[in-house]
Amino acid sequence: MTVLAATDLDRTLVHSDRVAGPAEAHEVIRLERRRGVTTASLTRRTAASLVALDRVATWVPATTRSVDGYRRLDLARTLGVVPRYAVCANGAVLLVDGVADANWAARVRALIARAAPRREVARLLTGHLGALPHGKVRTADGALLVVRIPDVPDGWVDGLDALVADRGWRVSAHDEKVHVLPAGLEKSAAVAEIGRRVAASRVLAAGDSPLDADLLLAADAGIQPVDGRLHAAGWHADHVAVTAAAGLRAGEEIAAWLLAQAVAFRPGVSSAGDR
Ligand SMILES: [Mg+2]
Repeated sequence: MTVLAATDLDRTLVHSDRVAGPAEAHEVIRLERRRGVTTASLTRRTAASLVALDRVATWVPATTRSVDGYRRLDLARTLGVVPRYAVCANGAVLLVDGVADANWAARVRALIARAAPRREVARLLTGHLGALPHGKVRTADGALLVVRIPDVPDGWVDGLDALVADRGWRVSAHDEKVHVLPAGLEKSAAVAEIGRRVAASRVLAAGDSPLDADLLLAADAGIQPVDGRLHAAGWHADHVAVTAAAGLRAGEEIAAWLLAQAVAFRPGVSSAGDR
């Protein structure tokens, strides 16, 4: 009876100072600092739940971060947990024991080959950015294009989407980040592959952004934070719970919820049910 718990990281389990909400300094573990500000932290309570989750389930971090961005969190050092599997770059990379899986990489290359070349879409994006003062294109693992734009003007994202859609690419915008990615590139496909490898009998998921919707929909049960972009957009599904709290406290709630769900599904582990 293997339970797979696939979780987004940023704004689901880990939070930057900007969106952390209230917490005492002694409660908080910092995972990442960039340019003098904390860009990823969680509470000790969240960390403890994740360590326990990793024991009773296959915990799979599933992030849009690049492999380097994921490695910066250094879960082994900060949590004492090394998830065997991780999904990076929104499904473009599947890490197994920290190493990019070659079979998965080949499948992603085949998928990407069906869309227009990245350089062509990058040119379109650069042109579309021309009218904006702050946009800067960054790339992640050769698959995604990521641009950070403070105050994305109305209609700008729709205009970009119209440019790339018939080239087999799609746009996902949340917070200040605009992701442009091949249409078929999804976290849920990589998580399904891991589910096959570990023979998962139940899949749980957690995520906050539109890029997590496929992950949540594909799961047997899931949870999203009340302060997430998906929730703000009115997205819901009957099998996806919503946290009561926001920020770091939502992270605590999500990790505890996943742990309780995983324990309840494993016979003999708890008295929570007879499944
Ligand atoms: Mg997120």
